[in-house]
Amino acid sequence: MTVTAPSDSLHPTVPGAHLLEVEDLSVEFRTEYGTVRAVNELSYHLDRGETLAILGESGSGKSVSAQAIMGIIDTPPGFITSGEIRYQGRDILQMPKEEQRAMRGAEIAIVFQDALSALNPVFTVGAQIAEMFRVHRGTSKKEAMVHAGELMDKVRIPSAKDRLKDYPHQFSGGMRQRVMMAMALALDPKILIADEPTTALDVTVQAQIMDLLLELQADNGMGLILITHDLGVVGEVADRVAVMYAGRIVETGGINEVFGNPGHPYTVGLMNSVPRVDQRGMRLSPIVGAPPNLADIPPGCSFHPRCPRAEVRCREERPLLREVVLGRRSACHFAEEVLDV
Ligand code: SF4
Repeated sequence: MTVTAPSDSLHPTVPGAHLLEVEDLSVEFRTEYGTVRAVNELSYHLDRGETLAILGESGSGKSVSAQAIMGIIDTPPGFITSGEIRYQGRDILQMPKEEQRAMRGAEIAIVFQDALSALNPVFTVGAQIAEMFRVHRGTSKKEAMVHAGELMDKVRIPSAKDRLKDYPHQFSGGMRQRVMMAMALALDPKILIADEPTTALDVTVQAQIMDLLLELQADNGMGLILITHDLGVVGEVADRVAVMYAGRIVETGGINEVFGNPGHPYTVGLMNSVPRVDQRGMRLSPIVGAPPNLADIPPGCSFHPRCPRAEVRCREERPLLREVVLGRRSACHFAEEVLDV
């Protein structure tokens, strides 16, 4: 049995110890403007029944890592340049293409942010859900449509069976997201990746969709990777959080621990830039500047141009993601000082 311990790894991981293990994953896009290093030596794991939130601003690489898991990175320009994505101990990237295709969708499914563009406008929603059963299970057309109706019922689309023949544009944004969830859950996946599943929806619908997602997760014990920039959603639903910046995890730990006492200046900045009910009347202080161009990531700590604590060392030496206290990791040279321990 091999034990791998890459430099930025969360833990030396015994392959197969977790349901999903992303280890040392790097993804880059080779464009005419240069090489965009979207994901750099990323490592995380997910267990059955667990919710891991991947939190970060736009362009932090959080969605690209999910696309790598799902095998939907267009090559070229995208290339996975290193790493492993192990599902139940087996590296998906080394599986034959046919096996990869069969596994994705059936074992690992994804719900996207923009259901309207993810659904095909010229097919009925019933046909699109039924397609999952026909392609992966070889189910007859009639039987697949029956399953599609049951799934639409399960995700609480009113009058589900009457709406099988409706087209995506005939559904509201929230209902389209439910259709996406029905498609994702069709084959009882062990892992569901929800990529900004509620961003395009209004607040009350967001809450309904998140509640439904958690209920469905509890029903079948799926591991859930929730990709979001919304701290409120993360705080309510996640067990653990991985905060990403410039393609790397900069902090990770249990949700209560990280949000209660953040150990990286970027996490502190994120928390100070959103309103909190327990801090009424306090001024918000947004993080100054903008995330770096991933084709030209600053040397040393990539957060140093925006970090209020930056020192000379930060400009020269990249901090590794390291355990600061038990179960808490931070990629900051001064994590102990940031963390109030
Ligand atoms: Fe800030 Fe330096 Fe820590 Fe980076 S290493 S987050 S620049 S204090």
